[in-house]
Amino acid sequence: MTCIDSLWLPYTQMATAPAPLPVVGAEGVRIKLADGRELIDGISSWWTMCHGYGHPHIQQAVAAQLDTLPHVMFAGLVHEPALTLARRLATLLPGKLERVFFSESGSVAVEVALKMAVQYWRNRGEQRHRFVAFRNGYHGDTLGALSVTDPGSGFHDALAGYRVPQVFAELPCDNETKAALDALLAEPGIAAAIVEPRVQGAGGMRFHDAATLAAIRTACDRHGVLLIADEIMTGFGRTGTLFASPADAVPDILCLSKALTGGTLPLAATVAADHVFAAFCSERTEDAFMHGPTFMANPLACAAANASLDLFERESRMQQVAAIETQMKLELEPCRTLPGVVDVRVMGAIGVVQLDRPVAASLRPAFAQRGVWVRPFGDIVYLAPPFVIDAADLTTLTTAVCEVVSESAATAPCLISTP
Ligand SMILES: *Cc1c(COP(=O)(O)O)cnc(C)c1O
Repeated sequence: MTCIDSLWLPYTQMATAPAPLPVVGAEGVRIKLADGRELIDGISSWWTMCHGYGHPHIQQAVAAQLDTLPHVMFAGLVHEPALTLARRLATLLPGKLERVFFSESGSVAVEVALKMAVQYWRNRGEQRHRFVAFRNGYHGDTLGALSVTDPGSGFHDALAGYRVPQVFAELPCDNETKAALDALLAEPGIAAAIVEPRVQGAGGMRFHDAATLAAIRTACDRHGVLLIADEIMTGFGRTGTLFASPADAVPDILCLSKALTGGTLPLAATVAADHVFAAFCSERTEDAFMHGPTFMANPLACAAANASLDLFERESRMQQVAAIETQMKLELEPCRTLPGVVDVRVMGAIGVVQLDRPVAASLRPAFAQRGVWVRPFGDIVYLAPPFVIDAADLTTLTTAVCEVVSESAATAPCLISTP
C-alpha cells in the first residue's frame, strides 16, 4: 500500500512529500501500522478521538443504528437519533442556543453560520455582508470559512483576495485592541464577529482568557453585531470544560464538529440562539434558510454522537482532562529552558511547545521513530491526546516531545507547514 498513485492528500506537496504511513487498524490510543508498529496517537486524529479508537459503546450504538436506519434524507423526514441529539446539545450548551442545524463537516458548519448571520439581517430588513474575524483564527477550508481565517496563516496564500468581505482584528486583550475592535464593529454592514473561544487551534494553538471573550461579547452587544463561536476544536472537553464559551460570553451562533461523534463519523452542527431562529420564522417563504447538505443529520453519525455524549455523562472524562492538564504542565515544563523554545503552555488536554522558528515539518519523522503520532506545524510542537490516555502513555508522548525539541536545535529551518 505504499504506492498511493490515485490519492491526493491534504495540505501536501505531492511531488516531494515523504510517503504516508499505511494504517491497518486502531484501538484505544494506538494506531496500528501495516508494518506491525503501533503509534500512540498524541493528537487524537486531528482532535476528534476523545474517547480513544473503537470505544465499544460507540461501536455498538453505530452497529445497532446500521441495522435500523443507516441513512435517510432530512427534508420532510426526521428521525429519533437526530431529535435526541439536538435536544441533548441544546440542554448542554449555555444560554438559549437551542436550534440545531446539522451538516457533515466543520467548514460547512461555519459556512452555515456565516450564511445564517447575513440572512438574519436581511430577514430583518438590513443589508449586512461583512464579518469581523481575528488574527491567527482558523475556521475551515471552504471559501467562506477560509475568508474569515487569518490570511497570514498560510492556508489560502494561493487564493489571496478571493473571499467574502471581512476585516481582521487583534483579540481585545488591552485597551488599545479593545478600541480597535470597537472601531471595526462600528463600521457599516458588519453582520457578525467570529472567534474560536479560548484556543485558536490551527492558527498556532494560541490561548486567551475568558475576559477577552467577555470583551468581544460586550463589544458585539454595544454595536448590535452577532457573535459566532467556532467551537469545532474546543467543544467537548478539550480546553478543560465541556464547551469553551464562558457564561458571560454566550454566542448567538455556535459551531461544533471534530469530537462531536467521538471521532467516529463525520458530523457537524450549527446551533442558533432563539432570537436568531426567530428571524427566519415568518409568513414569507423567502425568509427560510436555504441550505441542506445531502447527508445532513446522518443517523449513524447522530447515533455515534449520542453515544459519545453518554460517555461524557458516564465516564469521568472531565477529570481525565484535568489529570492530563496537570501531567502535561509538569512534564512539558522542562522544555522551557531548551534552546529555541519561546513558550510552553497547557490548557485542558492541549499542551504546546512553541519554537522560535518554523521547523515543524522536518521534525515529523522523528516522532514516528519514537512510537508516537505527533504532527507539529508552523512553529509549534503540540499534544492533544485522547482523554482516555493513561499516565504512562502520556509520559511517552511528553518525553518524545522534549527529546525531539531538544534535538531540533540543530536542524535547519524549513517551510511553514499546516496541521
Ligand atoms: C477543524 C476546524 C474547522 C474545519 O473543520 P473541518 O471538519 O475540517 O471542515 C473549523 N474551525 C475550527 C476551529 C477547526 O478546528
